[in-house]
Amino acid sequence: MRHSILHSTALLVFGAFAQAQTVDSPRVNAELLRHYQALVRIDTTDPPGNETKAVEYMRQVLEAEGIPVIVTAKDPARANLIARIKGNGSKRPILLLGHTDTVKVDPSKWSFPPFSATRDGGYIYGRGTLDNKWQVAAGMMTMLLLKRGNVALDRDVIFAAEAGEEASTGPGIEHLVAQNWNDIDAEACLAESGSVVRTNGRDRYALVQTGEKLPNGARLVAHGPSGHGSRPMRTSAILHLSEAVEKVALWDPPMRFNDTTRTYFEKIANVSSPEDAARYKALFDPAKSPASREYLAENSPIEYSMLHTSISPNIFQAGYQVNVIPSEAQATLDVRALPDEDMPAFIELMRKVINDPTVEIVPQTTNQRPGAAPSRIDNAAYHALESAYSKVYSVPTIPFMQTSASDMAFLRAKGVQCYGIGAMTDIEDAPKGFGAHSDQERILVDAVYKHLQFFWEAVTAIAASNK
Ligand SMILES: [Zn+2]
Repeated sequence: MRHSILHSTALLVFGAFAQAQTVDSPRVNAELLRHYQALVRIDTTDPPGNETKAVEYMRQVLEAEGIPVIVTAKDPARANLIARIKGNGSKRPILLLGHTDTVKVDPSKWSFPPFSATRDGGYIYGRGTLDNKWQVAAGMMTMLLLKRGNVALDRDVIFAAEAGEEASTGPGIEHLVAQNWNDIDAEACLAESGSVVRTNGRDRYALVQTGEKLPNGARLVAHGPSGHGSRPMRTSAILHLSEAVEKVALWDPPMRFNDTTRTYFEKIANVSSPEDAARYKALFDPAKSPASREYLAENSPIEYSMLHTSISPNIFQAGYQVNVIPSEAQATLDVRALPDEDMPAFIELMRKVINDPTVEIVPQTTNQRPGAAPSRIDNAAYHALESAYSKVYSVPTIPFMQTSASDMAFLRAKGVQCYGIGAMTDIEDAPKGFGAHSDQERILVDAVYKHLQFFWEAVTAIAASNK
């Protein structure tokens, strides 16, 4: 696998000047890898971030080739970078978004130092190798190649490297949307969250994030008389809270598909074992669906969560002394809503499921992120991604709804059609401790190279004239 792309013969010809460029040449790959390793070696652990160091590196690289750069920051140490290559304006821009910050490290746990970007056995190791510096490097490199090739574009191509994705959206995406909207406003956006899934070293399918659930929350508060611990009472707040938590946690909330999840379950069946395929197909059969959902609840929590608004009880608080029956007990629930959920109606349903007047439901009203409908899977941008995945990896594309939150929510809320794409990864790698946020975060060197080819195919299909 390692050298296979060097033998491919993708020759790409564009524009009135018939500029020819080979994106998968050893020279381009070496340059990409150099920038990528340089970015991984810049410690942008968030908190505190210090993303400005990565921005300064990219600013110099881009400006040296005549690409104008905007550096914009809420906090001077946490800058964001925006670069733009102009098209003829006949279509609205496309935005390539990546984040420069990473999660924290415990250096004592790493075999290779976390900011060394060590190359070993076909991998690059380091914090941020998967999340998300491959995307930042590939985005920047795409800009350099578009500029050098003088590629004729129908739309502007914007590259934005944002701060603060991992720990706080204030200095990053929220700052960009509030202060630099005109600089990043686009018809479509490519950001993180997807992947190209490999098993047993073989590319299987590409997952593209086209929507996400909306973080919500609620507290259950049970009330009852307090008393002496030597005289147990059936009215105990802790007892009532426990029963309520068990009911909502084991509840199978109403299932509902949207375009993304319907297509996901239809297509994932095509790349699954016969037994799994039958279970996915059964979701569409009202008679067989409950058993299938129960299987997913036990064996595939992510897919089960894609089917409905989900509830996870994550904090339990009650009591202060062993011989005192407390008068109040609380549980905090992580509720992840379908994009179109009617939350007041959902809370009413929860109330019926709990069916206990001593247990109050207090919906969370602070810290709300903007909700938005999933991006379309029938437009030119999505079809361009399908074609690029087919051409570069020979795999089908499957859309999915992320159960957690991403920065794309802020862009979708402004009407941008956003697609979460990702690096090629072995599905076996994360359970072995090599995934994003792990102590051995790593990426296949081939995945870095192939992602640039993918970016090039997708971006030119979406933006180049005469394509
Ligand atoms: Zn990330």
